[in-house]
Amino acid sequence: MSTIQTSNPATGRPITSYEAWDAERIETAVQRAHAASRAWALIPVAERASRVARIGQALRSHAGHLTRLVVEEMGKPLAEARGEVDKSALTADYYAANGPGILADVRVAVDGAEAWVSYEPAGLVLAVMPWNFPVWQVMRFALPSLVAGNGILLKHASNVTGSALALQDLCVRAGLPEHLVTALLIADADVPGTTARLIEDDRIAAVTLTGSNRAGAAVGSAAGRAAKKSVLELGGSDAFVVLADADIEQAAAAAVKARFTNSGQSCVCAKRFIVHQDVADAFTEAFVAGVEELTVGDPRDPGTQVGPLARNDLREAIQRQVEDSVAAGARLLTGGKALPGDGFFYQPTVLADTEPGMAAFDEETFGPLAAIAVASDEDDAVRLANATSFGLGLSVWTARSARGIEVARRITSGAAFVNAVVASDPRLPFGGTKRSGHGRELADAGIREFTNTRTYWIG
Ligand code: NAP
Repeated sequence: MSTIQTSNPATGRPITSYEAWDAERIETAVQRAHAASRAWALIPVAERASRVARIGQALRSHAGHLTRLVVEEMGKPLAEARGEVDKSALTADYYAANGPGILADVRVAVDGAEAWVSYEPAGLVLAVMPWNFPVWQVMRFALPSLVAGNGILLKHASNVTGSALALQDLCVRAGLPEHLVTALLIADADVPGTTARLIEDDRIAAVTLTGSNRAGAAVGSAAGRAAKKSVLELGGSDAFVVLADADIEQAAAAAVKARFTNSGQSCVCAKRFIVHQDVADAFTEAFVAGVEELTVGDPRDPGTQVGPLARNDLREAIQRQVEDSVAAGARLLTGGKALPGDGFFYQPTVLADTEPGMAAFDEETFGPLAAIAVASDEDDAVRLANATSFGLGLSVWTARSARGIEVARRITSGAAFVNAVVASDPRLPFGGTKRSGHGRELADAGIREFTNTRTYWIG
């Protein structure tokens, strides 16, 4: 019998062991989820939206329990864990209020006939999700998809299995039919094979994955082979561009937040700080001072700003990226070491003089590691920002917004923020370009991704 073991990254100690499902149990779950999703699709969209509103209420009433689970399973600092539950509840409100309108039929004027476009349910969707926002990543896909009339098979990251099961229970408590949202428990070694088989299965209409490029490539190619729709929300190496006229104190304070939120483990954390040479020294000094003031510690402590990394292999990956970059010529300004003791803590770290060809610049750094690169002028800043295979978010800092927009237009990304830190918002679409993936979540675009855009023509 295979098991899934969760453990607390702040202590390294085991939490719970779950029995992984065999093929028969997975088949039963698919049958039930498929039947539940067919029945759900027939329920009017207004009723589906009102049940999603109840998920919002359930998220609020169980916020304490969910917050504690997130802190325990992946080490997120308490206030941030609570923040992702609250944001999920707001997103439930948003889709409950706006989903039916976004999905309403659109009449089209044609000669001699009546025509319209309908957004009909896609069916049962496989959702492969990561651990870094155990509640939010699931909910930002699930809430619109449920309003759209779909069922969900959730393959959550194995280290947050408790959160997956809690979300499944919460949906039932909120009044969703049993089996409409089903958390699958799949043993590590079986994940690639089982997800590929599920994508191939005719009862599964489509797949969405939020995670690494490695997992995205595996799931995307399985979807391609099965000629099925996929949405891929993958890694990022967002540039934070500081122009010569920026307010340096403000930009440096924002940079600390942009890099170290979620202990640096967010796809849209700023990772490469590209700074005009005229302000590079002032920015670097203020930024390093801000980083050195961060409180690292027990994620249950309300004063903690940076917790542990979610797994030890993630900490080892950061250590390797720091060492390789320093060997290639980067300068270590602060941090650069794992913290001694239990748990997977790593010092908030800043590298200067990074450039293309270095690990900290070329690879996604998924932890508390910031890479600063100096640009000789605005064109050079644009060149450096684009010198990545990723294209998720972008943040530009300048005294003149119009100039920031001009610079942003020359850099490829799924979102551009000027004088603001990149963040998702249910009212705005979220997603990547280049190797950061394809498709969108949130807003109108997100709810329509998993619908059948159907043409009606009545002669
Ligand atoms: P990961 O290792 O790719 O895992 C994500 C999910 O994919 C997990 O459920 C994992 O299952 C599963 N998985 C892994 N290999 C697979 C395969 N070959 N076939 C099918 N499923 C597979 O990523 P992670 O380490 O959890 O998350 C960090 C990554 O996610 C970062 O790159 C980050 O940038 C990205 N991310 C992107 C966004 C976005 O919106 N663009 C948001 C958040 C995170 P197991 O846990 O069982 O291995």
